[in-house]
Amino acid sequence: MFIVLLGAPGSGKGTISKLLSEKLNIPHISTGDLFRDNLKNETPLGKTAKEYIDKGELVPDEITVKMLVQELEKSSYSGAILDGFPRTEKQAEELDNLLLANNKMVDIVINVEVPFEEIVDRIASRRNCKNCSEIYNIHYNPPKVEGICDACGGELYQREDQKPEVVNNRLEVYKNTSSRLIDYYKDNKKLYQVQAGDSANKTSSDVAEELIKYIKENFKS
Ligand code: AMP
Repeated sequence: MFIVLLGAPGSGKGTISKLLSEKLNIPHISTGDLFRDNLKNETPLGKTAKEYIDKGELVPDEITVKMLVQELEKSSYSGAILDGFPRTEKQAEELDNLLLANNKMVDIVINVEVPFEEIVDRIASRRNCKNCSEIYNIHYNPPKVEGICDACGGELYQREDQKPEVVNNRLEVYKNTSSRLIDYYKDNKKLYQVQAGDSANKTSSDVAEELIKYIKENFKS
């Protein structure tokens, strides 16, 4: 299956994607993580992407699509939970064409909705593992030992693009691009909208459970 997760930065789509990946046994591909790996390894792609990521802007479509193609080729297009891709209508069209050429298609698009007022606060409380990119929230999902990843013992840190100035820009970019993307998938009748966050009174695990139930009922293998 190919599952696309849409949602604003800080909506929890990264955590939800990881849970879906574990429970459904489908590989998780996060374009944000792929860019960060390239950044960490100081590859030419990482150096180009850094200019955009540090400002909270989107990396150009051609660069992002090329990186995704390489990743999908590694798994022979067998299925993926796509987290953070597509971000533009152009990327969505490219994805459809790519999958079609491999006799595949996007099966379901999940839009994780969290009110914007909640998001800024959520991002400020976020910490990521330097080593395995596990995500924590210092209030709602703290590590057992402060500053240390439960999963691998790596050091936790606050990402540069989780600082307030960059977060505001990322949200602005999201507001300007997301509605066209949502309309694109609404027209294809693939969209499943799910409310998340404190105001919906749901944790990321609750949301993942709800989605798994929906997927199992509607997509029998
Ligand atoms: P994320 O962790 O998904 O919020 O991604 C972090 C940053 O990586 C974004 O703010 C963008 O600069 C870049 N990025 C990730 N995915 C994409 C994408 N599909 N298109 C363009 N830029 C992306």
